[in-house]
Amino acid sequence: MADTTSEGAFTPDDPRKPWHWHPDLPIGHPPLFVWPPRPAALAGWLFGRGYLRSQNALHILLALVAWSFFTPSLERMATFEAGWIFEIWLRNIVLFSAVTAGLHLYFYTFRRQGDVHKYDPRPLARDDPKFLFRDQLWDNVTWSLASGVTVWTAFEAAIWWFWANGLVGWLSWADNPVWFVALFPAIALFETAHFYLIHRLIHWKPLYRFHALHHNNVNIGPWSGISMHPVEHVLYLSSILIHLVVASHPLHMLYHGFFLTVGASFGHTGYQDLQIKGRSAFDVANLFHQLHHRYYNCNYGQAMAPLDKWFGSFHDGTAEATDRVMKAARGARPGG
Ligand SMILES: [Zn+2]
Ligand SMILES: [Zn+2]
Repeated sequence: MADTTSEGAFTPDDPRKPWHWHPDLPIGHPPLFVWPPRPAALAGWLFGRGYLRSQNALHILLALVAWSFFTPSLERMATFEAGWIFEIWLRNIVLFSAVTAGLHLYFYTFRRQGDVHKYDPRPLARDDPKFLFRDQLWDNVTWSLASGVTVWTAFEAAIWWFWANGLVGWLSWADNPVWFVALFPAIALFETAHFYLIHRLIHWKPLYRFHALHHNNVNIGPWSGISMHPVEHVLYLSSILIHLVVASHPLHMLYHGFFLTVGASFGHTGYQDLQIKGRSAFDVANLFHQLHHRYYNCNYGQAMAPLDKWFGSFHDGTAEATDRVMKAARGARPGG
């Protein structure tokens, strides 16, 4: 891990010193898509900080809590009715806000970690007319809850209705325990591909105006994760509709929902990891998406799969990559 804080002042517009702190460069990808295969490294990633010993454990836990205690009965959900949909909306608001506000309080309000392993030390924007209420935090909270959680709940309610009416497949543990377990990382992988596709789509000029709202956040915080225009919410969250096609259990669908929403809060904290008593406990975000917020026309996917590498838009964090990306952007601002 390189600590660049001692190498001179942080100058965000200087491609040689764009971050307060960054991990060792170039950044890479997990050993998922490598040839020849590296099974030991893959298992280490899957059961270690790469997948299971990370926020994914929390998403699975949230799914268990939501399924066990805060999901209306299937009998009620067989008919669309405002009451049970409202209950799900409220549960999603509460669980999403608890984690996202927790991250914000820890990193930004109480600054428990200071600027340790923070990429961009600038505070969130205040008194900036491009944000609702001229305030980045309250702008982000508003779009996330009013639009984000509402669209998520609408998709979730539709899936419940299909399940309650026996119209889509239901996978139970007894059907196939191995696939039941493997479906969790498979969902993450599917979401990565879906995100890459819709993200490239909304960077296309005619659609970029919907995505520009998310990109108002050049410097990002946990609440920026799903701070999006409703059109982007529909596209982004539509990945959850895969549960209408592939037989799964409610735990998978709920995990998928938290992965998309709470996972985005983690991914936008602006910090590489969360530290407890000076020791790195687990990773929260990555430079990969932070680079997208800084330079726009790179890293459309997620760090999990090398889709950007395959399609020529990968920024590995180095000054050479910044030069290349900025050259490509010349005359083609975001959306171009
Ligand atoms: Zn983002
Ligand atoms: Zn974008």
